[in-house]
Amino acid sequence: MNPLLSLSDLSARVQAKIERSKDKEKVFDIIVLGVGSMGSAACYYLAKQGYTVLGIEQFDIPHEQGSHAGQSRIIRKAYFEHPDYVPLLEAAYKNWIDIENETGTQLYFKTGLLYFGEPDSALIQGLKLSAGKYNVPINSISTQEMQSSFASFILPEDYERYLEPDAGFVTPERAILTYAEQAIQLGASIHSHEKTMEWKKTGSTITVKTDQATYQCHKLVITTGAWAGKLISSLANQLTVTRQAIGWMKPKKQHLFDLGNFPCWTLSVRGKPGIYYGFPVLPPATFGGVLGLKIGHHAPGSITDPNLVDRQSAQEEEHDLIQTLQRFIPEGYESTAMMKTCLYTYTKDENFILDYVPDTDQQVVVAAGFSGHGFKFASAVGEIMADLATKGKTAQPIGFLSTARFHKKY
Ligand SMILES: Cc1cc2nc3c(=O)[nH]c(=O)nc-3n(C[C@H](O)[C@H](O)[C@H](O)COP(=O)(O)OP(=O)(O)OC[C@H]3O[C@@H](n4cnc5c(N)ncnc54)[C@H](O)[C@@H]3O)c2cc1C
Repeated sequence: MNPLLSLSDLSARVQAKIERSKDKEKVFDIIVLGVGSMGSAACYYLAKQGYTVLGIEQFDIPHEQGSHAGQSRIIRKAYFEHPDYVPLLEAAYKNWIDIENETGTQLYFKTGLLYFGEPDSALIQGLKLSAGKYNVPINSISTQEMQSSFASFILPEDYERYLEPDAGFVTPERAILTYAEQAIQLGASIHSHEKTMEWKKTGSTITVKTDQATYQCHKLVITTGAWAGKLISSLANQLTVTRQAIGWMKPKKQHLFDLGNFPCWTLSVRGKPGIYYGFPVLPPATFGGVLGLKIGHHAPGSITDPNLVDRQSAQEEEHDLIQTLQRFIPEGYESTAMMKTCLYTYTKDENFILDYVPDTDQQVVVAAGFSGHGFKFASAVGEIMADLATKGKTAQPIGFLSTARFHKKY
């Protein structure tokens, strides 16, 4: 693996390539709308298959207005949400390692992931179900081991404690830049600061209108994250965008929490919805953002419109995150370094949508509704989008993520 370039140097290198890849061409085999987490990977896999590809992004690549900002995203395999995701995670891990080997750029950091919760919590029950069904290694942590290796945590007596050693985090900004750069290397055109206004299918041709030009293509991939409902009216009622606050906290003793000394963690708290989660302290030069112990609460925030997000006030959320740290990781909080907001796009069952857009003769593919747990899958979703668009099928078991589930009558 190459030594880690600073995020600003990597970004400058890729922005220069994005500028050069902007051409005057108006007709493409495939257009990808939204070059964020899923779209950047889709551009890469499509360009790799030799198709002419245009990726259109409304903001910078990457940026802080959508769902991918903030240094780090947890990757784990003993999937407490549902065991059906585990085969997709096998593909995602493989693809993260493939892109790392192809580029020499580290994107996945194996820190291990701790799971703490009441025996009957959805976190612990779901973790055991997925790990058992797919033989994902998880280790129960003894009291002695807690004291020797994870002494920063103070837990209720009855909590169960597990470590998934192969879990860790992936780096969203670096991953998006890496996929965009590789896509361009393979011949894709990537346009940033260009907003898609509408798309229309006429016969077998799809026309895409942006605020700057009109393009045509044979296949369209829509990966517009929190804005998916605005471009696919038939899915608008299935998607709810929420505002999520995350904090970076200055710990009392930073070295205890530095990358290399501290793992990622998840925690179920009695009486609170969802889970709390966190990361080691990461050096901002390499990962972006600020120096601090990152903590978040994975549970629905307030409903918002992606164009009208209140990005200022997060006092209530900050108070809740501080209380959680003070109770469970007291050495982890001295003061708040930064609060930020980010967007989740929920489906009603919190499962993704990976499918063709209804009534488009399988010419338009969508990846949306990642419900706050999608980034770790980006490396697999990019390939799935490419395969659905070009081959009309995927080898991955994505039936449970189809739009057909919205029309089921029980
Ligand atoms: C605080 C927070 C913590 C999270 N933690 C984790 C975690 O630990 N692990 C994990 O796996 N996942 C996590 N997630 C979820 C994960 O980050 C998202 O599921 C994932 O980033 C969604 O990817 P996406 O491609 O759908 O959206 P994005 O990455 O936001 O990409 C969509 C892109 O489409 C562009 N776009 C939209 N409309 C248009 C238009 N009209 N024209 C052109 N471009 C357009 C947007 O600007 C954007 O760049 C977290 C999310 C948040 C907010």
